[in-house]
Amino acid sequence: MASEKEAALAAIPSDSPTIFDKIISREIPHHVVYEDDNVLAFRDIRPQGPIHILVIPKVKDGLTGLSKAEENHSTSWAAFSTIVINDGPQGCQAVYHIHVHVIGGRQMNWPPG
Ligand code: ADP
Repeated sequence: MASEKEAALAAIPSDSPTIFDKIISREIPHHVVYEDDNVLAFRDIRPQGPIHILVIPKVKDGLTGLSKAEENHSTSWAAFSTIVINDGPQGCQAVYHIHVHVIGGRQMNWPPG
């Protein structure tokens, strides 16, 4: 399996459907921990700690990553505006559908990377 870095370098940033679109449409099974009209939270398939949840907006609307955020994206995304999000190849982003990782349950190290 490719490392996170290899996957990020191989991923092509685009507005095309991603694996997260298939999760939203229920084509791919996943473990939902929270869902409302705007947001879906589900367990990461490769957890990096005892708790590892991904939180994504259900409508991507061109918001592939944080660097693409514009004012019209604020409706479902405003609640996450203080969270650090990996962005682009050097940030090891591999899935171009903006997402937040919520990881816990073990001692973390800082800075990351
Ligand atoms: P970053 O958040 O650092 O940008 P990625 O873009 O690689 O990193 O994050 C994508 C995340 O999606 C990874 O943590 C990966 O384990 C997770 N993931 C990929 N496919 C699935 C899936 N089918 N179900 C749940 N999580 C998935």
